[in-house]
Amino acid sequence: MLAVDGQATTQPAEGLRIRVRGRVQGVGFRPFVHALARRLGLAGTVRNDAEGVLVEAWGTRVGELPALLRAQAPPLARIDAVEVQAATGGAPPSGFTIVDSVREGPVRTDIGPDAATCEDCLDELFDPADRRYLHPFITCTHCGPRFTITSRLPYDRPQTTMAGFALCARCEREYTDPADRRFHAETTCCPDCGPRLSLPPAAIWELLAGGAIVAIQGIGGYHLACDARDEAAVARLRIRKQREAKPLAVMVANLASARRLARIDEAAAACLGSRERPIVVLDAEPGNGIARSVSMGLPTLGLMLPYTPIHHLLFHAAAGAPADAAWRHREWPAALVMTSANPHGEPLVHTAAEARARLVGIADAIVDHDRAIAVRCDDSVLRMVDGAPAFIRRARGYVPEPIDLGREFPPLLATGAYLKNAVCVTRGREAFVSQHVGDLDGPEARRFQHEAAAHLLRILDVRPTQVVGDLHPDFPGRALADAADLPWVAVQHHHAHVASVLAEHHVVGPALGLALDGYGYGSDGGAWGGELLRVDGAACARLGHLAPIALPGGDRCAREPWRCASAALHAMGRAAEIRARFGDEPLTAGVAMMLASTAIATTSSAGRWFDAACGLLGLHLRADHEGQAPMALESLVRSPRVLAGTWRIVDGVLDPLPLLAAIADREPRDGAECFHGTLAAALSDWATQAARASGLSTIALSGGCFLNRVLAEETAAALRRAGLRPLLPRALPPNDGGIALGQAAVAAAMA
Ligand SMILES: [Zn+2]
Ligand SMILES: [Zn+2]
Repeated sequence: MLAVDGQATTQPAEGLRIRVRGRVQGVGFRPFVHALARRLGLAGTVRNDAEGVLVEAWGTRVGELPALLRAQAPPLARIDAVEVQAATGGAPPSGFTIVDSVREGPVRTDIGPDAATCEDCLDELFDPADRRYLHPFITCTHCGPRFTITSRLPYDRPQTTMAGFALCARCEREYTDPADRRFHAETTCCPDCGPRLSLPPAAIWELLAGGAIVAIQGIGGYHLACDARDEAAVARLRIRKQREAKPLAVMVANLASARRLARIDEAAAACLGSRERPIVVLDAEPGNGIARSVSMGLPTLGLMLPYTPIHHLLFHAAAGAPADAAWRHREWPAALVMTSANPHGEPLVHTAAEARARLVGIADAIVDHDRAIAVRCDDSVLRMVDGAPAFIRRARGYVPEPIDLGREFPPLLATGAYLKNAVCVTRGREAFVSQHVGDLDGPEARRFQHEAAAHLLRILDVRPTQVVGDLHPDFPGRALADAADLPWVAVQHHHAHVASVLAEHHVVGPALGLALDGYGYGSDGGAWGGELLRVDGAACARLGHLAPIALPGGDRCAREPWRCASAALHAMGRAAEIRARFGDEPLTAGVAMMLASTAIATTSSAGRWFDAACGLLGLHLRADHEGQAPMALESLVRSPRVLAGTWRIVDGVLDPLPLLAAIADREPRDGAECFHGTLAAALSDWATQAARASGLSTIALSGGCFLNRVLAEETAAALRRAGLRPLLPRALPPNDGGIALGQAAVAAAMA
């Protein structure tokens, strides 16, 4: 630690002009530089500008400054470059001052993601002597909302939705006092001058404890909350929200309380407690008291910890408002379902007017406040896969954190996929993938896609030269190119899947890719989804695919596994069993008839082969959503096993039919274990043959099927044993949420 020198600066000896690039605005960087300069006895200035932070400093110890800027940077800062040159100009100033932002030239800096309330703020929040005691909007330079309240750069209060809250005299003093930890904290406020919550947390808790469903305005939208231990309340929420059978996320007071509900290892604990505060999908502790309707019979539980002062205040109220500071670390039984308030299939609700219009009949009460949400953003969801966190959904806390591309890209807007949409903007060496937008089914979702793209382009100040999207002729993302009057580039779905993983891992040049998912429009117009590819930048060769499986009933197959199971039985020559297994309704007769026709549509989709396995094992014959049956299948697996000789590889086509025949009459758990173990071995065998033939050893694993932890881990392990280098998606989800980056990478390679 350097000596503190609060005295007047010594006679300046030399001057430096230091440019700091990266995420250096809105993270307390100027106060940090100011404090550092005083410690070193320097004179000069620090300012935010369009390129980041500019420091001009004079003094005998100025040479120490650049290294210390890197080494001691504030927690939310990310330093990409520190460029040093000799200061020019006239006589150095006396003292060290913070200069107002200069708004000129192109914006060249980042706005940070939203960060969970920090420990210092929590100490104040529960200190009865502090003037922000129980203040629901406490924040500082190290925590609070960023991305979701910022309309444009540079990140200054007038550019955020805090613009309307004039600082009171005491907040103003803190904001302008270089010694204060809220010096230039753009989101700062207090009970006198800050936003107001429409209902006190104690009253919200009372409603929740009484079984009510309460819509609560949060960081990136509204949550629907209810008591997670109250089966009737959770069941009511499901019915009102038409939340099919998808699992709901649960929030508890702290890590100690979380450990009672689920198995949490060190890596998962770090993830839960990180300032990004994602939902982490964990193995549930049996008999944990959480209502059955939360996870709908799955042995997993999606948990998260409080990330706003309002959340902390709710758990404080639930704990009986303890006066001691230690309550935060004790174990508490309270557990709240916290699920995004979006009416069935629509994007997140994020304004008070919308909440009133769209949540009628869903929430018993609506709690909001007057700090507007500039852009909506869901909670992120992660799971530990193969020893590291993997995204299921990437949004709050991570967006707009850039992904380093390792090389320069032209400025592009990639519009993602039809399902689980997210868009991507490239700028220099960085890719910025938007928050999860969702399925582009309705006009509301398409509006959100345009809003997310426009917001990203605005805060990054990027003017794209091309718009990239899916090859499907009806892909709605094309409207973004038309609206901007820019050229449209189409990229095949699975090519983009593989390219995304390669881009994240900085693989340049040819590599193999295994893309397994539900559906993607093939370059031959067919329905693809089980693809072994050779990808080399803009070039993509289909080395092989899964054997085609018939689709009796088209799109309905994705939700009704009995249909693909019938197709498998028919292909095995066991069509007579269809009726016996799945009932003698007219439906089964209809399916049998379709299967007998040579004109029936087929797909190479791995998702449909999974459905066939689920159907044969009797799991969710008629499911509520596409992932339900495969999730149940995966959850049965304890120790995956390989049934040798139950797959065929002919001319690059991997046929899992013999495997299905081998599990068709097994008990569900036995069948699930054999299916996973054998499929992983077959995929590895298939990839190894392609590796030998092509001389390539790097293989990207992508597609929604790799959300399946067992499949991802078993396949990666088998590939490693075979001497290959498997790459799993880490920066983005393996499902269609990761596609936009791959589209950008392919378009960049074409340029
Ligand atoms: Zn803080
Ligand atoms: Zn104030």
